[in-house]
Amino acid sequence: MSNPIAIGSVAELLAHAKAMESEALERYLDLAEQMEVHHNPEVAELFRKMARVERKHVEKILERVGDKDLPHIPPWEYQWLGEEAAEAIASEDVHYLMTPHHALTLALGAERRAFGFYARVVETVEPGELLELARELMEEEREHVALIEAWLAKVPEPADDWAEDPDPPLLQE
Ligand code: ZN
Repeated sequence: MSNPIAIGSVAELLAHAKAMESEALERYLDLAEQMEVHHNPEVAELFRKMARVERKHVEKILERVGDKDLPHIPPWEYQWLGEEAAEAIASEDVHYLMTPHHALTLALGAERRAFGFYARVVETVEPGELLELARELMEEEREHVALIEAWLAKVPEPADDWAEDPDPPLLQE
């Protein structure tokens, strides 16, 4: 059932990486803002931290791109594993009362998907520059996964009634 990954060149991989990491960055920033609107500053700060991690990753990718021309790949042709960019968090998974534990679990899922994406490229391409790059990107995602796992180990598990709001907002998003 999995889509075949058909990454055929360094430029194509960079185009995918750039789109995927930029989307992840945007998503973390959106989530941080959403959490601020809902007076959940602790989780907002975590998403901002993740956004900083992703921004560094995007910058590194842009450095690698340099003045190379990247192929223009329409969004529907991206070789993602699912509908949304591999590294992005689905909006239906987000709850305004979520705890840092929830936020980190979502981020962990996103980073694991990104890792999985690059890992599949690593498995499918021939030795050479493309494989080297895919491997490097995969290792960076492995670091992100490890980083979030370490954070996750430090935050308490959510209480059973975490979703109960004593003062629910009038407007639901
Ligand atoms: Zn990442």
